[in-house]
Amino acid sequence: MPNSEEKEQIRRLRSELVRTDARVQAMTQLARSLNAVYDLDILLKQAVARVTEIMESDRSTLFLVDRDRKEIWSKVAQGENLEEIRQPMDAGLAGWVVSTGKTLNLTDAYKDDRFNPKVDRQTGYRTKSVLSVALRSKQGDIIGVLQSLNKKSGHFTDNDEMLLEAVASQVSIAIENAQLVNNIMTKNLDLTKAKENLANKVEELQVLYELEKEISAAVDEQQMLHRLLRRAVDLLECEAGSIALVSEDCEELFFASAVGEAEKEIRRIRLPPGKGVAGWVAQSGRSARVNQPSEDDRYYPDVEEKIGFPVRNILAVPMAAGGEKIGALELLNKRDGEFGLNDEMLAFLIAGQAVSAIQVSRHRQQRDRENRLSTIGQMLSGVIHDFRTPMTIISGYVQLMAIEDEERRRKEQSELVLRQFEFINEMTRELLSFARGESNLLLRKIRIDETLKDMEEILRREFEPSRVRVNVRMANPITFRADDNKLRRLILNISRNALQAMPEGGEFDIEVGDDQEGVRFAFSDTGPGISDEIRSRLFEQFFTSGKRGGTGLGLAVVKRIVDEHGGKVWVERSQKGGACFVVWLPKRSET
Ligand code: ADP
Repeated sequence: MPNSEEKEQIRRLRSELVRTDARVQAMTQLARSLNAVYDLDILLKQAVARVTEIMESDRSTLFLVDRDRKEIWSKVAQGENLEEIRQPMDAGLAGWVVSTGKTLNLTDAYKDDRFNPKVDRQTGYRTKSVLSVALRSKQGDIIGVLQSLNKKSGHFTDNDEMLLEAVASQVSIAIENAQLVNNIMTKNLDLTKAKENLANKVEELQVLYELEKEISAAVDEQQMLHRLLRRAVDLLECEAGSIALVSEDCEELFFASAVGEAEKEIRRIRLPPGKGVAGWVAQSGRSARVNQPSEDDRYYPDVEEKIGFPVRNILAVPMAAGGEKIGALELLNKRDGEFGLNDEMLAFLIAGQAVSAIQVSRHRQQRDRENRLSTIGQMLSGVIHDFRTPMTIISGYVQLMAIEDEERRRKEQSELVLRQFEFINEMTRELLSFARGESNLLLRKIRIDETLKDMEEILRREFEPSRVRVNVRMANPITFRADDNKLRRLILNISRNALQAMPEGGEFDIEVGDDQEGVRFAFSDTGPGISDEIRSRLFEQFFTSGKRGGTGLGLAVVKRIVDEHGGKVWVERSQKGGACFVVWLPKRSET
């Protein structure tokens, strides 16, 4: 039987064993969580709890160094509250450990000058014994401090120091690993985001490209808006859409284009400025997403009555340029729910394209108008001259009528006068239609021999260095109504092609003849002629062949001028084996 002393020893040994067992278990759990957890917050929390068990203390804290802010911080003050403690990197006991890298073992913190009792005052805790060790990175830099407070038995031993240092090196590795994993995950996230952004950009570019294609395929502003709108309705997967523009006098908003069930009805709608969602958007320059129209003040139910289908939701974005309020792009009834932010961004993109296309087209119209007026200005003396002939005839007949007794003769003369007025009216109509841009021709009575004389002069000078002889032949002087400027452009384009086809020199003949119906121009050269392969495509825009720096526009322009005059153009083989371009233009009514 063991005596009482031995019994006491056995009891001590047993409780020692139980304690050691608990510490070993805590160590094992710590090792396990250090290996398994990569979330830094969870890791710190678990590590601190285990350290308290291992150290048989009351609480523990793990500080991390924030070198950028020159602070140490902890989120895991053990106990009820999980507050973040921040303090200067060199303050307090932990600060001293960071600065020196040494282990600190105090039996009573309050007796040590380095201790800062502020935290105790804040938390109402009473610190007594303290054991603090440094956490180091693989490179040896101090990354934090592991601190255990109030050893249950009173003070921390040398063994505790060694144990906490061992634990600290394990914790350091785990923290570094967690930070590394975090870093990789953030980078991965960044990479995924970058990939998404790139995909979005590519998609955006694709949309822009498609829109650009629509714009360039359109023949006028009206068609261009319609094409863009149709794209918008497709891309945004909605039922209908419209483009509302502010009228020139800013007095109303009209629907320049509409796509969807009630296309015609929408286009008839006129709204006072600022009225309806589209009006509000056009006036405020801000976008609107309305998912419950009936509950929105801006919604104008009269429109719904007119278009005849229920409006579930609306997305409208402004169309504006440099402060000028142009209108709004409005989309109705998203097919699978409501319009979102992505839809709004896409609509902005489309509206932006529409605005720049409108501006280009308006600018072009303006320039065109100015060009027309300046052409009329240049031609004015000629135009007045054209009027002189019928006026002279009128004045002659009127004088005759004044002295004519016979009624039948007077009637004949008055009919002749009226016919001259018809010519005058016809010429005025043509002039006005050119000025308004309805026709591209400024028709005047021209003498072809005069035009040809000028052109021959120009061509001779251009052709001479290439040793190409120019011959112009015209049987009799011909006058007819045509656009002189355009006719000159036509002659120049055909002649220059002939010159380019004869780099070694040759002959170029222009022959003009007429009959009652029209005037025929034949341009023949002694070049290589036109092969069958390219004959059918000659007059296409951008068709060019065997030429350096050819634009393929010369003959396309010729064809347009001929078409505008209501004439014909074709190519034959010239008598001397080269090309012969024939242009036939109809004669119009003339005095
Ligand atoms: P470009 O001169 O810029 O190529 P054009 O529309 O004026 O464009 O002419 C189209 C093509 O027609 C030319 O590239 C050339 O191959 C052919 N062509 C035009 N005129 C002649 C000609 N008189 N002789 C031979 N080939 C010609």
